[in-house]
Amino acid sequence: MDTTKKLANGIEMPRLGLGVWRVEENDATNSVKWAIENGYHLIDTAAVYKNEKGVGEGIRQSGIKREDLFVTTKLWNADQGYESALKAFDASLERLGLDYVDLYLIHWPVEGKFNDSWRAMEEIYESGRAKAIGVSNFHQHHIEKLMTTAKIKPMVDQIELHPTFTQEPLREYLAQEGIAVEAWSPLGQGKILENSTLVEIGQKHNKSAAQVIIRWHLQSDIIVIPKSVHEERIKENFDVFDFELSSEEMKQIDGLNINERLGGDPDNFN
Ligand code: NAD
Repeated sequence: MDTTKKLANGIEMPRLGLGVWRVEENDATNSVKWAIENGYHLIDTAAVYKNEKGVGEGIRQSGIKREDLFVTTKLWNADQGYESALKAFDASLERLGLDYVDLYLIHWPVEGKFNDSWRAMEEIYESGRAKAIGVSNFHQHHIEKLMTTAKIKPMVDQIELHPTFTQEPLREYLAQEGIAVEAWSPLGQGKILENSTLVEIGQKHNKSAAQVIIRWHLQSDIIVIPKSVHEERIKENFDVFDFELSSEEMKQIDGLNINERLGGDPDNFN
């Protein structure tokens, strides 16, 4: 399996990364450093996580070359709008201590503002300070509305997605549009790790339920960013490139969907 996915603009995005939501600055530094030492090349943060400084510190401590790393951050809701998005982006870069990010996302579709925010994102992209731009928590109708004024199509949509919330209609639309799908809360925030189907499939492969879920995302062409602050789990979550789920197992996992949303609904998140 390829460890990267080519985005619509030709940029290669690692398919498996580390998420750092609800991780304190200091923990973010260690988690990022451990992740990079264990083979991760993708880190997912956001301005609202308040740990961009810690992430930047972890990157520096790891000693990895900048070009070997793919860093994502996101524009928070309160900063949406053209001017404020430009300012928020500069502030994120400064906290990260980087001169570019690999992917900048609009965190949520704030009605009445996201089209203007996107104009700023396009400018940032054209300046080379974000190698790719995209959205998060956008339904099909949000993307359609964005495209009424956009010059550039989002390259990624990062959405809640896990075996009990598989979002098949939205994934199908995104695939048709050439927009890469990235899963947030890919492990269902750790709440589905005792599911017997996942545990049993794991036993057959000598893998944990977490590893089975991560593998299911990868084999479903979904970019995946599990979160952990524990070195052993960070390592475990990356140890998924030496086994393969059968098509029967993939179907069994697809069948766990119960449309169980754990986070906010993009149509009603305020
Ligand atoms: P997740 O689904 O990645 O689950 C993380 C939890 O699972 C951990 O806190 C831990 O309790 C458990 N866990 C992780 N690895 C484990 C292992 N190997 N064994 C046992 N338990 C394990 O949850 P998440 O943090 O909500 O999502 C991942 C990332 O997605 C976030 O950190 C963030 O970067 C991103 N995210 C984005 C949005 C958005 O609106 N765009 C929203 C939520 C999360």
